[in-house]
Parts: sequence; structure tokens; C-alpha cells
Amino acid sequence: MLTSNTVCLGDDDIVQKCGVNVSEQQSADAAKFTSLTELMTRPATPTKAGLSYVQTGKNDCLLMPFTEKGLTVCSHYVPHPDIHAFVTCNGDNCVICALGNQPEMKFLLPVFDCINREVVVLSMSLSMRPRALAPQVFPVLEVVKAGRAQVMSVSRGADNNFTVKAWDLPEDADTGEETIKQFLAEVESGRLKLDSVFMSIPNETLRVLPWIQENLRIRGLA
Ligand SMILES: [Zn+2]
Repeated sequence: MLTSNTVCLGDDDIVQKCGVNVSEQQSADAAKFTSLTELMTRPATPTKAGLSYVQTGKNDCLLMPFTEKGLTVCSHYVPHPDIHAFVTCNGDNCVICALGNQPEMKFLLPVFDCINREVVVLSMSLSMRPRALAPQVFPVLEVVKAGRAQVMSVSRGADNNFTVKAWDLPEDADTGEETIKQFLAEVESGRLKLDSVFMSIPNETLRVLPWIQENLRIRGLA
């Protein structure tokens, strides 16, 4: 069973909380939920700034990376209409794992959206195949790390084949300095969490859903 590997943003070296038991985190979050309706209409961990992730598609997104530090999160994509979203894996005894939905490690990278002028989260699988997102973004991060501001266009085609193009940020472009500064302060204070872009649903809540109940029953796990 995979567990989350948390990487905190900050001026110091990457801080890791290896082997964090996600189910412990979920049980702490569980007290926040009062109804299933509420659960389905908002993320489990509401963020002050309404952090959202980049919806990649056939049209370009224009993004400016400003850090190489992000967060690795073990998650599921749940296509069922009741959820239809990425959901954080609940670790040991995860109900979604029990349904045969394979968890995947995602790297969540905060970037500045050059058009909407806000910090958003770019979610990447850790796949290193050539047309995957991560191996195309990492070289851009190296250039940024070397001190050259970059803007990159990101689009996603069939079979999750991404196209990433990067170039020097024009000198007169908005670098989002104040927005990024506020974002980093929120993260460092713990008020803002990158993984809030994924839903977080406790096992006990998942078991309430009829289609999950039926799946578990047929598997002899109910
Ligand atoms: Zn899981």
C-alpha cells in the first residue's frame, strides 16, 4: 500500500514526512464532515485562497514555474458520477483501493497562471515516458532554478500525451511576485495545503455510497 510522502514548501531544504499514514490524516479530517451532500460539493480541506489545479486539455495553459518544491500525494481518480474527481488514497484499508482502483503517486507543483494571475497547482504523474508531463517540466524547472524566469505552455492530447514548450518570460510580464509571496506565506503557516486540490473522503463516508457497498458486497468485503 502506498503512503503519501509530504514535501513542504519553504526556504529551507525540502522537509519530508516519509511514510505518513494517510488514514490517520483522514480520520483527523473526518470530523469536518457533517453530511454527504456537503462532502460532494466541496473539497475536504477548504482552502482560504480557493486553490485549484490546472485543468490541462487540448488548449494551452500559460504557466510560470517559480519553485521546484511541491508535494507528492498518493491519489485515485474515481470516475463514478458520485465523485468524478481525484481523491486522496486512505492508505492502509483504503476503501477505494479495495475496489480495485489503483492508486497513483502524483507530484503537485505550484505554478503561477500567467493569464488569470493566480497560483494554481499542476498535478503530474511520476511517469518518465517521453510524452508524460513530468519529464518535460523538469528541464524547465532547472532553467528557473538557474535564475531565468520561464513561461511554459502546457497542453494535453490523446492518451495523456502532453506538449510543453518553454521560453524566457518577457521582461514586461507580470511575475506575480506579490501573489506568490502571499501563497508561500500561507503554505509555510500551514493555512494552505497543496493537496486540498484533491478530495479527501474518509473510508466510513465512502462505505455509505450504494455503488461502493455493492462492489464490496460482491467481493465479499462488506
Ligand atoms: Zn487507496
